[in-house]
Amino acid sequence: MLISPPVLSQPDGSKPFIIRTDASSYALGAVLIQGEKPEEHVIEYASRLLSSAERNYSTTEREALAVVWALEKFRGYVENQEIIIASDHQPLKGLMSIKSASGRLARWALQIQSFHPKILYTPGKSNVVADLLSRPVHDNKEFVCNLNTVSIELPSRRSRDIREEQMKDEDIKKIIDCFESGRKDEDFINWTSRGYLMNQGILYRYSPDTESEEAQLVVPCHERERVLQQYHDSPTAGHSGSEGTYFKIASRYYFPGMRKFIDEYVKNCAECNRYKPNNQKPAGLLRTPIYAQRFETLAIDLFGPLPETPTGKKWIFLIEDTSTKWGELFALEDATAQNCAKFLIEEVFLRYGLPRRLISDNGTQFVSAVMQQTCNFLGIKQELIPVYHPQANPSERKNRDLKPKLAILVGDAHDTWDEKLAMVRFAMNTSKYDTTGHTAAYLQFGRELRTTDDVNHDLRSLIENDNFVEETLTTLCRRDFNTPNQRTG
Ligand SMILES: [Zn+2]
Repeated sequence: MLISPPVLSQPDGSKPFIIRTDASSYALGAVLIQGEKPEEHVIEYASRLLSSAERNYSTTEREALAVVWALEKFRGYVENQEIIIASDHQPLKGLMSIKSASGRLARWALQIQSFHPKILYTPGKSNVVADLLSRPVHDNKEFVCNLNTVSIELPSRRSRDIREEQMKDEDIKKIIDCFESGRKDEDFINWTSRGYLMNQGILYRYSPDTESEEAQLVVPCHERERVLQQYHDSPTAGHSGSEGTYFKIASRYYFPGMRKFIDEYVKNCAECNRYKPNNQKPAGLLRTPIYAQRFETLAIDLFGPLPETPTGKKWIFLIEDTSTKWGELFALEDATAQNCAKFLIEEVFLRYGLPRRLISDNGTQFVSAVMQQTCNFLGIKQELIPVYHPQANPSERKNRDLKPKLAILVGDAHDTWDEKLAMVRFAMNTSKYDTTGHTAAYLQFGRELRTTDDVNHDLRSLIENDNFVEETLTTLCRRDFNTPNQRTG
């Protein structure tokens, strides 16, 4: 049905648009159509998954949400046009006439009415396409086609949902109410001086202890756990230590007592306790100095042998830039000098430029003629550190970090570690290092890398809107007159 030609057509502004919507328990589907059977033709398909909050909506609410969402989605086509909404959910038709509807439904009804649509009830059978789109199936061969016209969106939270969650937290609600009452009383001054501000009905905070230009989203009590899971337990977070986890969360979120909460969470993380060694720093050993230039000095090391993967990989080759701590990880079949040299040249030298120095232990691969000649030929000074002082090799630290991270990710599937390397690398490069005080990514690119959580809950895309400048000016001014040490939370 979706795949038989003609599949999509151009819209005709002179004809009414028909939007067919449907909602299942976990997704929304919509089709934009023009014309009547048999001349009916489809202009666009859309579907998206519901967020976990949306999954708790009642059937009518989900059906109404489908309409609101579809109207927004197809706004470019349907705005100021004649629109017919066809839904297989009968109560929806009545929704527009309910005067006493409250909350979400009332809001949506207003939103829908602004498009002046006609709402038609079409029983399930005649609404098959939208029905199908609202029940996306991934493993069912019947629906597999190579059309790219169906857009699937990940659930992303809108400002309204964020506000709703914030208002459930009594303490946050108190602050929001204070800001919205318009009173400039003691409480208002108190909250403002602590860096709180409102933007589009959502409470944010400027951290007094960082120089960050980005506001932190204030997290309600019941969502703290989720934030911790995202920034500690998820594969791309990779179970960083307490400090690293705090840093990642603090650059996006805030809640009172955050540092202690994170400390406790990490201290009690079962995975961390199971796999991480007691990380005592060796005292008094030679520490390689930090070099000024990025990718001027590289440290390399091998990690393995590991359980052989189905593709025959047994080793991890680690390459670290000693200045930024940026790391690269490669899975190798054999730990030969040829393999190491190949990855060094193809994946690192030809991407970041030739280093001046290469630090490694005196393992056979690294002292071999192949490696020596490579370095010689490329004008790289090779520095070998005896294995009995491995701590002097900076990548040795990565090596120690790597083991628990991989162990946690791989879990019981011991031979699939190579599939997780990219995630481990991401976690490492986005974790703050004690020695530099920054993440490798920040030192490398001058900014932090956007994470999957940022995509779903990007507060910056919200905060960039309209009244932002006006509302932040108070904070900016305050900053001008205070030195960092004088600011208090
Ligand atoms: Zn952990």
